[in-house]
Amino acid sequence: MANMPVAVVTGSNKGIGFAIVRALCKQFPGDVYLTARDPGRGQEAVAKLQEEGLRALFHQLDIDDLQSIRALRDFLKEKYGGLNVLVNNAGIAFKVHDTTPFAVQAEVTLKTNFFGTRNVCTELLPLVKPYGRVVNVSSMVSSSALGGCSRELQQKFRSDTITEDELVELMTKFVEDTKKSVHEKEGWPNTAYGVSKIGVTVLSRIQARMLNEKRKGDHILLNACCPGWVRTDMAGPKATKSPDEGAETPVYLALLPSDADGPHGQFLSNKTVRTW
Ligand code: NAP
Repeated sequence: MANMPVAVVTGSNKGIGFAIVRALCKQFPGDVYLTARDPGRGQEAVAKLQEEGLRALFHQLDIDDLQSIRALRDFLKEKYGGLNVLVNNAGIAFKVHDTTPFAVQAEVTLKTNFFGTRNVCTELLPLVKPYGRVVNVSSMVSSSALGGCSRELQQKFRSDTITEDELVELMTKFVEDTKKSVHEKEGWPNTAYGVSKIGVTVLSRIQARMLNEKRKGDHILLNACCPGWVRTDMAGPKATKSPDEGAETPVYLALLPSDADGPHGQFLSNKTVRTW
């Protein structure tokens, strides 16, 4: 199977991730893995696609669980000798009226959206083959949350030299600051989801820079994007886009042709590069 192209989508048993898998099944010339933390929900989703005449494969993946990430890594290495497309879609958000203490929301949200996504990247990016495509699903909320940060934090998050360690330190500091109820005084906006997505967007910029430095000749393109406001369990029924419409920008980035030299290291919505 080492020559069979392979695509992996995290958190794809429902919502935008499921729609991304559906589109890739139609357009990607290779094996497409629908992954889910719960095997039951994952297999059910695969069966739903099968009813549509589409063939997705399943692998368990809980991005909060390093063992689960490493099991997928070993499977991909062994069966395919790497991977060609990675879409980091899995994410969580507390509802606006949730009464869970803010510090708990911050810790839980950052754990999955930032630290989980980062762990997937740490384990799987080294496996990405030449001409591979990596898409990190962030949100426009990362831009608005950036605008709500102090000038000093904004400067750090826009920096072209910030390192992954420095970003991890900042994300950890946010969680610690919420526990001490000093996050606003320390220049953070009042949104755990927003800060987690700042983390995803900035992580993408750093990873793209690292690819430029370490794997220049490999033509890998890595970007962050916003799917738009999409009718899913996360955003609710009033959102403007269907899941299939929400999948369009992530799928566009996942399928950038092999002669494309960009976008790379960008943040996009509606297939358009946005200023960070
Ligand atoms: P959703 O319907 O709630 O789906 C989220 C998916 O992520 C589910 O499959 C969920 O699995 C999975 N997930 C959560 N935690 C996970 C973990 N630890 N490991 C593996 N999978 C996990 O949400 P969605 O609207 O499709 O969101 C998809 C992505 O788009 C998220 O990153 C979100 O932040 C982003 N986004 C959404 C919108 C929007 O308007 N919907 C806007 C901007 C950005 P379970 O079923 O097991 O919970």
